[in-house]
Amino acid sequence: MEHNPGKYRTDLWIDWCPGCGNFGILASEIKALEELNLEPSKIAIVSGIGCSAKIIHYINANGVHSLHGRAIPFAIGIKLVRPDLTVIVNGGDGDLLGIGAGHFVALGRRNLQMTIILHDNRVYGLTKGQAAPTLPLGVKTKALAIPNIYTDINPIALAISSGYTFVARAYAFDSEHLKEIIKKAIMHRGVSLVDVLQPCVTFNDIHTADYFKKKIYKLEDEGWDPVVRDPKDIEEKALNAIRKSFEEEKIPVGIFYENSLLPTYEERLKNVIKSYPSISPGTTKIEVNGKSI
Ligand code: SF4
Repeated sequence: MEHNPGKYRTDLWIDWCPGCGNFGILASEIKALEELNLEPSKIAIVSGIGCSAKIIHYINANGVHSLHGRAIPFAIGIKLVRPDLTVIVNGGDGDLLGIGAGHFVALGRRNLQMTIILHDNRVYGLTKGQAAPTLPLGVKTKALAIPNIYTDINPIALAISSGYTFVARAYAFDSEHLKEIIKKAIMHRGVSLVDVLQPCVTFNDIHTADYFKKKIYKLEDEGWDPVVRDPKDIEEKALNAIRKSFEEEKIPVGIFYENSLLPTYEERLKNVIKSYPSISPGTTKIEVNGKSI
């Protein structure tokens, strides 16, 4: 295949701080879209507010720079009226797991086919480094006056217990690995989460590139099998993945959990809304049993 990243990259100036993990995510996401050979006109990327949210301006695709914490509802609306589009949400840990946490959980229960790429740097970078929901209790980054007094959210555990059917963690500066995981997440039948660990070089002096380099190891290197092959194994696979995600001494990255056995939201809709598959772009009315709703 001809290498053509320019097809997916806009010519806008990128104003992230030099060394920010967002650069690694942008490069990997573009490479994933290129290798999947997805047409820019058939991709919709939605973001909320934050440094990470600017990514939609740098990728040549349909994009919505929406409201703080509300990227997921925007994306759900897009996917429901345009089920033919590949829909991706890019958002920070503050955006998706703080004000947007309710939407994050509700999306898992739906299992709608879309991909969430979580820019996980543990701080609110755009607003000068306050503690974000993934910053552990007791950690004091340079922007905090006192150590963090909140306990942290584990995105992997939250996603699996909310119903996400593809749940992975990756590192922003391991581009090849991240790209492959994004590709698998996009191709997954159902809702997928890629929790991307990334340095914020300006406000997080604890979780730096050096910190991640020393701690990270790959699940596949120890023969981890994330795939659910039988419905009776769902609970055990989910519990094992959640347990694994709490490891701290060394941080595992890779696919924790993959379950393609459950119906997607689209399939559940098709069972009750006869006209669902024929919804055309721009349609706002759908019919159930011959009646408009
Ligand atoms: Fe990246 Fe942090 Fe700079 Fe924001 S403040 S662009 S997250 S390094």
